[in-house]
Amino acid sequence: MTPFDQNTIRNIYYTKNLIKDYYKAKDVSTAIDISKREFGIGTYGKKISQRHLTFENKDQFNDYLRKQTPFFVSYSVAYYKFPEKRPMENKEIYGSDLIYEFDSDDFDLPCHNTHNIWHCKECNLSGVGNNKTCPECEKPTKIDEWTCDHCLNKAKKETIRLVDFLENELNLDPNSFVISFSGSKGYHIRVTDKNVLPLSKSAKIQLTSYVSAEDLKLKELGFVYENKQWYCSSPKQAYGWAKKILSYIQEIINSYTTEQLQETFNIGKKKARVIFENKEVILNNLYHNFLWSQFVGASNFWKAFLEKAISDLRFEIDVQSSVDVYKIMRVPDTIHGGTGFLSTYIKTIEELKEYDPFKDPVVLGEKKYKKIKIIKQTPKFRIKEETYGPYMPNEEIELLEDVCVFLILKGVAI
Ligand SMILES: [Zn+2]
Ligand SMILES: [Zn+2]
Repeated sequence: MTPFDQNTIRNIYYTKNLIKDYYKAKDVSTAIDISKREFGIGTYGKKISQRHLTFENKDQFNDYLRKQTPFFVSYSVAYYKFPEKRPMENKEIYGSDLIYEFDSDDFDLPCHNTHNIWHCKECNLSGVGNNKTCPECEKPTKIDEWTCDHCLNKAKKETIRLVDFLENELNLDPNSFVISFSGSKGYHIRVTDKNVLPLSKSAKIQLTSYVSAEDLKLKELGFVYENKQWYCSSPKQAYGWAKKILSYIQEIINSYTTEQLQETFNIGKKKARVIFENKEVILNNLYHNFLWSQFVGASNFWKAFLEKAISDLRFEIDVQSSVDVYKIMRVPDTIHGGTGFLSTYIKTIEELKEYDPFKDPVVLGEKKYKKIKIIKQTPKFRIKEETYGPYMPNEEIELLEDVCVFLILKGVAI
């Protein structure tokens, strides 16, 4: 690591003191079974710089935050008999939580091209977008990821949908879900259900593959194509994914207009009208185990329909990462040192729906102005009710302290 320059050292002191003041005023009490976990901390610009830390209880942990004030704090997905022992094997793992993360960059959204910034180290050029090579010198660029309401909303929606799935499809205890905003790019769900805790890795992989619908086979769900006819289970008997897909069919057939059918399934007007005019027949037929097929191209239509159902209903989950027992994850209600935002513990789905990731986690800094100098191209962004930027290098500006802290910790201002 290159040594920090004077400005950066000054800013490390400055932001660390703000974080310290925050921890002095608040108690962090969101870590579940604290004495059975391994903790990891990070320094300025480095998410994990030290692992194998342990705390006997909440007070000891809060004492540490106030005295040492790390820039990042994470704790293990695993539960250990002896979390303080090293190496890993000696800790004696006896269980682990399930972890789900939805980050804004997990989704392929057009907004990324409006707020991500590429930088060329070679010629110092930068620009908006995801350019992988520099247009000037053709060297590979480095991309700085930013977020906006649009992509964080998508991450939030998926989190809400998954919580519903975990509770209602897998019957996991919703009181055991620890939902949080990561403090930067998305949302986390930690499932601490005591029924999940002792499951083997392969059982957890199976469970999570089921959630992600990774290897879902239409045939196994009762959707079978035989003698030019699609068959299905009746919505009365179906369960799990089959039931979800059938509900999806019912909803679309019930509510879509001819134009919507045409657009969504890329079919002609005539075919769309036949389907629209026969919606009652289609809905009825489902209960007799048929996907109604009295029109030209029905088999392809239904095949595309079923594929779209799965791709719309499944979850974009990295199975290996969800079941990785050696992972450590940010402790909710601690500061994310790459933004200064609070990685907020979110108690209920209602609270999550209302959560504003550019307002609610902004906890550092007072209502006073501060001068900063931009050192890296910065896209337009929002803090609380105001929109700021875009800014170019060498701009000197005076902004409210909470905005300055954000830009300093994002590494784009000094
Ligand atoms: Zn270049
Ligand atoms: Zn976005």
